Amino acid sequence: MPELPEVETVRNQLRQKVNGKKISSVEVFHSKSVNHDIDIEEKLLNKKIADIDRIGKLMIFSFEKETDLFLLAHLKMTGQFFFVDPTGDVDGGGHSMTAADTDLPMKHTRVGFHFSDHSSLYFNDMRLFGYVKIANAEEVRIARSKFGPEPITKNFDAEWFYKKLKTRKTPIKAALLDQSFVAGLGNIYVDEALWRAKVRPTRRADKLTKKEALALASASGDVMNESIAVGGTTFQHFKDTGGENGNFTDYLKVFGQQGKSCPRKDCNGTIKKIRCAGRGTHYCPACQK
Ligand SMILES: [Zn+2]
Repeated sequence: MPELPEVETVRNQLRQKVNGKKISSVEVFHSKSVNHDIDIEEKLLNKKIADIDRIGKLMIFSFEKETDLFLLAHLKMTGQFFFVDPTGDVDGGGHSMTAADTDLPMKHTRVGFHFSDHSSLYFNDMRLFGYVKIANAEEVRIARSKFGPEPITKNFDAEWFYKKLKTRKTPIKAALLDQSFVAGLGNIYVDEALWRAKVRPTRRADKLTKKEALALASASGDVMNESIAVGGTTFQHFKDTGGENGNFTDYLKVFGQQGKSCPRKDCNGTIKKIRCAGRGTHYCPACQK
């Protein structure tokens, strides 16, 4: 499943490709991926993409001179975006890809956006949980209101984070997964951030010390930002090669590492896997208190 760092990478790369492009037609290959009650082509015809914003894992396309028209895109489990330039070169990212995904449109292509310069943007989604949907400003406002601040932003307020934790009696892992509290941390990144901050996932959120909370806030941001830096290779150019899908999994310290020695210097612990907050959870019983 594309996590936030992959989505952020896709967004950043895609906006460099599609910003300013004028939509000349929209092909819907599967109705489940779009609004059931709106003609997406009629809405988007001749509109120019202004920019792509993001909140959590939701991408928000805005359009020039339009204040009440947006396109919300969510990759969910298996979504991918591919941009095809007028010469047929393909760039794309999202769910892990093979070269076969880039012969577009392919069998999992759900929507195709064609631009006036003969380039195209395709949305592939094998499992059909993802979507590209028209939304108005009020719907975007509601969507945004469901997300808390993101630890990856420079102005994330660690003091605020500590105060808010004091009101939460759930395990810290559950608090971090709650997107309405802090946005963007998925299961993998929560385990990694807790390991870095030496906090056990099962600890009650309101029992964390200030020092632990501040360490956790910065660890959360760091782990995401490092992953975004690595995730740059998630967005691939497919002209010559299917390419290997480089990602952050090569750098994980605890996630999926159960039974292995804790990678922290001077720690003799063994990584353990438990269930916490309904999710497979990995931590070191020796150094995470
Ligand atoms: Zn350890």
